[in-house]
Amino acid sequence: MAEAQIIDGKQVAETLRGEIATAVAALKRDHGVTPGLAVVLVGEDPASALYVANKGEQSKAAGMHSVTHRLPADASQEEVLALVAQLNADPSIHGILCQLPLPSHLDSAPVIAAIHPNKDVDGLTVTNAGRLASGLPGLAPCTPVGCMILLRSVMPSLKGKKALVLGRSNLMGKPMAQLLLQADCTVTIAHSRTEDLPGACREADILVAAVGRPEMVKGDWIKPGAAVIDVGINRVPARDPQKAAEGRTRVVGDVDFEEAKQVAGWITPVPGGVGPMTIACLLRNTVTAACLIHDLKSPLD
Ligand code: NAP
Repeated sequence: MAEAQIIDGKQVAETLRGEIATAVAALKRDHGVTPGLAVVLVGEDPASALYVANKGEQSKAAGMHSVTHRLPADASQEEVLALVAQLNADPSIHGILCQLPLPSHLDSAPVIAAIHPNKDVDGLTVTNAGRLASGLPGLAPCTPVGCMILLRSVMPSLKGKKALVLGRSNLMGKPMAQLLLQADCTVTIAHSRTEDLPGACREADILVAAVGRPEMVKGDWIKPGAAVIDVGINRVPARDPQKAAEGRTRVVGDVDFEEAKQVAGWITPVPGGVGPMTIACLLRNTVTAACLIHDLKSPLD
């Protein structure tokens, strides 16, 4: 059997960013609306600062209005909530993203709950989870949206496919399952209490792995020809023992890529698969939010 076709997330994300730039230009030209994204960063965690810088750069490159609000690491819960209230009321802002995790003295749940649902571009509020579950227009979490775009890039019709989502988090597994259901898949959600997990996975035409366990999904868990979407981002010691001894690491997914690519029909690599889609889908969600707020049809639908 031929090796799986690699789904190139970098390429799909680049194409999507081009479509977003065109949509932003059309919204400005036809409706005088410039989609605006505000990112809130509390503290100086270097990884978070890097993500936030990338989000700012990519939103500006797409022609959006983009602002970053930095609060000190010792900011109070009230200060963060006051900033969210200010952004909720700001008509130039259509998307608000609070970079997680927040410093440990802050409680993220009330901060997320305070974001207006129509500006919740991370799709994390209970209102948007409810809209998604009810099939109503809203904002779905960025990574599952990105996984759907990757799947559709190789499988234009998902109707009737058996899909298995491995993982049931609110951020990833549950919204992923809802999006697959909306696309007329027959969906199973598997988790740490699922019996005969390899057998359940082997039934799936589409397997989405979001468990956070390095290379857990083996080649013989995969149905021949299936589409495998690997969401996991796990740091493991470098392959070279010398480098590993120096503390060097590499990133792997939740799927054993070398084994899986011998069996699957399509597969996303890690890195370079789902990861690049997440920021592109944040920009996409900002366009969707601008359209929701101004009661316009999204040029991206
Ligand atoms: P999470 O909140 O830790 O959820 C993990 C899920 O996996 C849980 O539902 C858990 O089941 C299940 N699980 C854990 N161990 C299992 C096992 N041995 N067998 C079966 N199920 C098991 O993680 P998450 O936020 O959904 O993220 C999952 C992975 O995706 C992580 O590697 C994360 O870094 C990555 N991620 C990547 C992106 C991206 O941009 N590419 C975005 C988000 C997340 P229970 O509910 O039963 O405990």
